[in-house]
Amino acid sequence: MIVDIDHLLANPVYDAARCSINFHPLHRFAAIAVYLVLCFLPKPEFIRFLGLGLLIHMALDSIDCQMTNGIWFTP
Ligand SMILES: [Zn+2]
Repeated sequence: MIVDIDHLLANPVYDAARCSINFHPLHRFAAIAVYLVLCFLPKPEFIRFLGLGLLIHMALDSIDCQMTNGIWFTP
């Protein structure tokens, strides 16, 4: 997933004890709200798939976070 490029901006790049949701710039709630809007734009078509893909990514990151840390997002 291309959205994970923002994981590379973080230091360290991967930290199991850190929740990416609300931590990385593209994983903030404001960004998630934008992805939600993308899902409902009438055109172009690919924008909806992009929005959906990004939302699925956020959901997976959040679930991973819940399983490893017991939280859904970084407060
Ligand atoms: Zn991510």
